Amino acid sequence: MKADAFSLPVDSGCAAPPTREVLRERGQREVFCGLTGIVWLHRKMQDAFFLVVGSRTCAHLLQSAAGVMIFAEPRFATAIIEERDLAGMADCHEELDRVVDRLLARRPEIKQLFLVGSCPSEVIKLDLGKAAERLGAKHAGQVRVLNYSGSGIETTFTEGEDACLASLVPAMPASAPDAAPALLMVGSLPDIVEDQFLRLFAQLGIENVGVLPARTADGLPAVGPNTRILLAQPFLGETAQALEARGAQRIDAPFPFGAEGTTAWLKAAAQAFGIDAKHANAVIAPGRERAKRALEHHREKLAGKRISFLPDSQLEVPLARFLATELGMQPVEVGTPYLNRKLVARDLEQLPQATRISEGQDVDRQLDRVRADRPDLTVCGLGLANPLEAEGLSTKWAIELVFSPIHGFEQAGDLAELFARPLRRRDVLQV
Ligand code: SF4
Repeated sequence: MKADAFSLPVDSGCAAPPTREVLRERGQREVFCGLTGIVWLHRKMQDAFFLVVGSRTCAHLLQSAAGVMIFAEPRFATAIIEERDLAGMADCHEELDRVVDRLLARRPEIKQLFLVGSCPSEVIKLDLGKAAERLGAKHAGQVRVLNYSGSGIETTFTEGEDACLASLVPAMPASAPDAAPALLMVGSLPDIVEDQFLRLFAQLGIENVGVLPARTADGLPAVGPNTRILLAQPFLGETAQALEARGAQRIDAPFPFGAEGTTAWLKAAAQAFGIDAKHANAVIAPGRERAKRALEHHREKLAGKRISFLPDSQLEVPLARFLATELGMQPVEVGTPYLNRKLVARDLEQLPQATRISEGQDVDRQLDRVRADRPDLTVCGLGLANPLEAEGLSTKWAIELVFSPIHGFEQAGDLAELFARPLRRRDVLQV
């Protein structure tokens, strides 16, 4: 079932991504900052702790975004930068060391500590890289200390995960030069979805599979020229680049949303590992059929409906592909904070030519376009949803798509339901 050598499709790096006109916007943007990623990352990495070095605003954002967690012993916190720190009257590094020492003494179960930068830590140019190095050496053998930025100056919403995973890459062990081919699935997924994919890879006959992020610190997979990376999330450009710099090659595929997206994603992995196509089809077929049946329920509600995506989660292009090709929706505008043409090439090429693609945001101009287009559904951030609803436009919160399990065959129906629900609600309200 397996060939000795890898076969395509891997991203050779020379294939020109498809060209397509893109409206580039630069102006005021309405998105959460990269700290938001901590909400799902701390659930995924069971022995990790996220220490935000920030202000009370950062603490409030985290506590309200992860509301329920404040009643449990949380695995994130904010080291508050006070006015005297901002005024340069205190040595922030000394204070940070004290906070970390106290934390690690009280919580010996922490095996990975992320120092997370914020707008205030960037404004005072607090070097968290240096702090991570110093604290890592001090607590060597007990805890791995890393750092990344979740600052709203530098990152939007899902870029926090990208920055976090990229910070893990240098800590990954190098795979042996003669190591067997290995698949690395990259992107944080709910455990239940991750397990579904791991079962499918095993059934396909791909034996050596690692996951980034791993659930625990000692599960961090090795990486090297034998590694083929399969991205599960489209917003991981920096992580993919860091892995490629360590010799890994990316498997070029659409993202695993819906029956067809998941099929193509799995088949791309199977092909890269030389798995017999007939065997791959046999493994994939039952899940694909279940997903197609689940989608049928929603087709009637969604087919022909016009949808606009405002730039938010960077999931916009693959989700618009799913809605257009599998449910017959008409994407009017697909806006995304950053368009990484290489990573989303296989989804982008399937979007209708009439769909307007925009990158970045100038919120007033964008809202003018939404008002002129009057789509049946607008996917946008929380702050824009209420004003648009008040103008009679149905909306869907983009953040819900990041917090819900939406990847893979078994979740295809739920994913379609997330878009059908606001339209049903609108119908009920109109009645
Ligand atoms: Fe606000 Fe910046 Fe803190 Fe994010 S990092 S909560 S944008 S101050």
